[in-house]
Amino acid sequence: MLNNKLNFWFCIQIYQKYGRVLIYRISLRLMSNLNKKVVVIGSGFAGLCAAGTLAKQGFKVLLIEKNDQIGGRARIWKEKGFTFDMGPSWYWMPEVFENYYQQFGKKASDFYHLKRLSPSYRIYFGKNDQVDVPSDYQSLRNLFEEIEPGSGDKLFRFLKDAKYKYETGMNDFVWRPSNSITEFFELRIVKALFKMNLFGSVSAEVRNLFKHPKLRKLLEFPVLFLGATPQNTPGLYSLMNYADLVLGTWYPMGGMNEIVKAMEQIALEQGVEIHVNEEVRSIEHQQDKITKVITSKSSYEVDGVIAAADYAHVDKEILTKEFSNYSLTEWDKKTMSPSSLLFYVGINKRLKNILHHNLFFDEDFEQHAKEIYTEPQWPSKPLFYVCCPSLLDRSTAPEGHENLFFLIPLAPGLQDSEAEREKYFEMMLDRLEKYSGEEIRTHIVVKRSYAMNDFVKDYHSYKGNAYGLANTLLQTAFLKPKMKSKRLKNLYYAGQLTVPGPGVPPAIISGQLAAMELSKSLQ
Ligand SMILES: Cc1cc2nc3c(=O)[nH]c(=O)nc-3n(C[C@H](O)[C@H](O)[C@H](O)COP(=O)(O)OP(=O)(O)OC[C@H]3O[C@@H](n4cnc5c(N)ncnc54)[C@H](O)[C@@H]3O)c2cc1C
Repeated sequence: MLNNKLNFWFCIQIYQKYGRVLIYRISLRLMSNLNKKVVVIGSGFAGLCAAGTLAKQGFKVLLIEKNDQIGGRARIWKEKGFTFDMGPSWYWMPEVFENYYQQFGKKASDFYHLKRLSPSYRIYFGKNDQVDVPSDYQSLRNLFEEIEPGSGDKLFRFLKDAKYKYETGMNDFVWRPSNSITEFFELRIVKALFKMNLFGSVSAEVRNLFKHPKLRKLLEFPVLFLGATPQNTPGLYSLMNYADLVLGTWYPMGGMNEIVKAMEQIALEQGVEIHVNEEVRSIEHQQDKITKVITSKSSYEVDGVIAAADYAHVDKEILTKEFSNYSLTEWDKKTMSPSSLLFYVGINKRLKNILHHNLFFDEDFEQHAKEIYTEPQWPSKPLFYVCCPSLLDRSTAPEGHENLFFLIPLAPGLQDSEAEREKYFEMMLDRLEKYSGEEIRTHIVVKRSYAMNDFVKDYHSYKGNAYGLANTLLQTAFLKPKMKSKRLKNLYYAGQLTVPGPGVPPAIISGQLAAMELSKSLQ
């Protein structure tokens, strides 16, 4: 009791001494930002979060998007009563979303209802050979024991290690702008890097512990989100297994685009002005500062710019050679994440035998990886993914219908044609029908394909990449394309091609990081 009184008295003294000064300083800073204008190029998650963060700090923010809808790769396509999420479908790491909303005094539940999927997803290894990945730890452990006796304890150790990586990664690493290696010169950080197995691979880690091919596939799958093979993905990224198997797979009712709507609402409440159907074409500068952003419709005077459109497009098309961070030759040498062949399909029947997320790992994983990374070509026997959100969320399809999303990862930069797309659609349908025992072909009422050419046309995506840059060792942290422009003091890049990397949660972090860095540089 006495202690509490003393603490309270102490807090009052501190507030009286420093509190007013602090509040005065914060107000001064906000006031000094008030008349500063920032343009954010691109309205994906990175752009939306950069815009919201800067506007909250008092900047006058204009968010410019070339397409008629905001959200970037998370746009929607509506047709005949169906609503298709065009890109992301896995909601992982919910705390990253909550952290963003929290800064505005909000939470995810203010915008959408999140449901945890249970089972999390299904993996098809062949006909009558499938595994449903449970959402609770004990059932997961039982599943591991069933597949490989003795693997339950190993799973416990593996996930304990993955938890350490996840927590250290999220608390210590992802919030560093990684402008320089010196940001990591701290004994604690260097020690952590070794403990996190930065120099080993996810694949080696998994294969050292688990022998059964099914368990290996299950544990190697999450890093595919990071755009590289498990063999080429640093061991630290087994943190993704923690995100997958412990933190869980979630779904925002209404679809992934609900996140876009939430972030749009936040941006508008903070005073961000949003322009769609307007493309940024070039910039004007004085010495080492951008002074104007030129678009397809107008031009805007600026104090600062966040480039949250595809990084390579900004370097190649918006900036002149002398100002771009990387030359064409340098971009060409980088390892891009895969592109994708997608199909949005509506069928006029309900399905019983598949789950929300279904992975078809019934063909040779290594062969497909080779055809993406080392010998780029259309895959001979692709692995693929099918999502059926309407099983849970009836708002995505008309009564008695089902909403399906198909995805095959493909090498970036391949020649794309309708005939080729169709061939792969047939392949996927054959396997989906065979394994699920459901007739689908004859029930299709809506169908649209989407692949490399569309990624280039719609997002100015370099080589038609879907998820940005691959997270290989040589493209991790300070080795990734830099957030900070080397030549223009008031330009910062954000999004999946810079730090921390591909995926919705990293794009959210990237936008906030770039905003904080730009804000500091404009003080
Ligand atoms: C098919 C697919 C499935 C995916 N699945 C998942 C998943 O399940 N879970 C997950 O976490 N992640 C997933 N991802 C990855 C995730 O969607 C992306 O990493 C993330 O959305 C990228 O956000 P961003 O803001 O960096 O870029 P983008 O979303 O690409 O936003 C960039 C924006 O800039 C605009 N733009 C480009 N040039 C200009 C210009 N000159 N002027 C104005 N605007 C411009 C573009 O139109 C675009 O709107 C998936 C991606 C795809 C494509």
